[in-house]
Formats: sequence, C-alpha cells, structure tokens
Amino acid sequence: MARKPIVGGNWKCNLDKAGVSALVTSLNGMDCTDCEVVVAPVAVHLGSVVDNVKAPIEVSGQNCNFKGNGAYTGEVSADQLVDMGAKWVILGHSERREYFKEDNEMLRQKLEYALSKGLKVIFCIGEKLEERNANKTLDVCKSQLEPVKDLLKPETVVIAYEPVWAIGTGVTATPEQAQETHKQIRDYLATVNADMASKIRIQYGGSANAANAPTLSACPDIDGFLVGGASLKPEFADIIKAIA
Ligand code: PEP
Repeated sequence: MARKPIVGGNWKCNLDKAGVSALVTSLNGMDCTDCEVVVAPVAVHLGSVVDNVKAPIEVSGQNCNFKGNGAYTGEVSADQLVDMGAKWVILGHSERREYFKEDNEMLRQKLEYALSKGLKVIFCIGEKLEERNANKTLDVCKSQLEPVKDLLKPETVVIAYEPVWAIGTGVTATPEQAQETHKQIRDYLATVNADMASKIRIQYGGSANAANAPTLSACPDIDGFLVGGASLKPEFADIIKAIA
C-alpha cells in the first residue's frame, strides 16, 4: 500500500518575527511535490505563517485545548487554529506529556475535539530510555495508542513515533531500531483494523537530519519525519529531498 510521505517541522518555542519570516522565505523555495510538508510555528506566529507560506505547505498548531473557546487561560482552541487557517495540530508531543503533564485521558479529549473541528492531527508516541532498556518500547507505544484507537483514521491522523531519548539529543534511533518499532506499531494497529494499519502514516521523530534521513526513509514502515531542531535550518529542505 503506497503511503505518501509526510514531513513535519516542529519549530517548538523558537524564533522571533524576523526569524519566522526568513524561514518562511526559504520554505517557499522548496520542492515538495512528492511529499506532504507541514510546519508548526508557535501559536503567536501562526497567522503570519499561514499568510505567507506557499501551498502545498500546510500549517499546524503545536497543541490545542481539550475543549473549545472559553475560560481556559493560556490555551489555544482547535476552533481558533481552524479560524487562523491551520490544517493540522500536533498532539501528545513528549514535551507536552513531560512538562505539562498531559496524560492519555487528556490527549484523547484533545484528539477527539481537534478532529471534530476538522483539524488533521500528528499524534506523538514514544518511550523513554529506561523503558527501552527494560524492553517496554512496544508496551508504552500500545498504552499511548490504545485509548485513541477508535479515532485513528489514515485520512486525518498521522502517528509520530518519537523515542524520547532521541528527541533533541543528537542520538538517532538506528534504521533497524526505528523500522522494528514502526513495524510493531503497525502490527498492533492491524489488530484494531487491518485496512487502517496498512494506510496510516507513521513518521519517525528524534534527531532526524539530512545525513540520517535517506537510510531511515528507506525503511518500509517509515512514512516521513517529525523534525525539531533541523526544521529551523536549511537542512530541512535536504530531509524532504531525501524522501521525495
Ligand atoms: C521533535 O521535537 O519532535 C523532534 C523530533 O525534535 P528533534 O528533531 O530536535 O530531535
């Protein structure tokens, strides 16, 4: 089953107005015909990115509220992301799980609400180093997917497998480690729905860069990347070229 690769750039809490403008200019020169490209600026810059980035690149929030507008100080709702022109939102990033204590129950509510508003979702999962060392990688990934399994649709959800020990560390999962886990995730998803499992895209995230993208993207169950650090650099275009 051919799955169109998808690369996301997670800009995290980085860049000022001038930096965003320079990055958007460089993105607009990229060829992204064979690969879907989504960029996720911080919420305050989302409007300017939507206004200035050229199709087919789409824009994503990095998080959203578990409900709509209202008395939720500091939050951004899915309704507001849609109104600003975002097509996507990233949910469940390990930094949200770790620093903002987002648990599986909260993430289910966020996913359900975001999908109900028409956003597509990059849903992040992945194990910590001690969990990998204890051979719990698949258990952790399953425990993060199980509560949302009925919401996983290939048209609207992309799964990002991001081993926490590889995020922002410069340590990348080897192609063998990444492929093994992607395959195990897909096999688990096949127990939920075989058709969904064969069509849903699973990105790899964790210190992806121009050097490791070609071998990682050659793995049969890796359908693109969620990129943090390298998405702020010209290297992002090379990652896209590597898989297109
Ligand atoms: C991420 O934050 O999703 C990520 C993968 O970061 P990095 O590429 O910097 O490891």
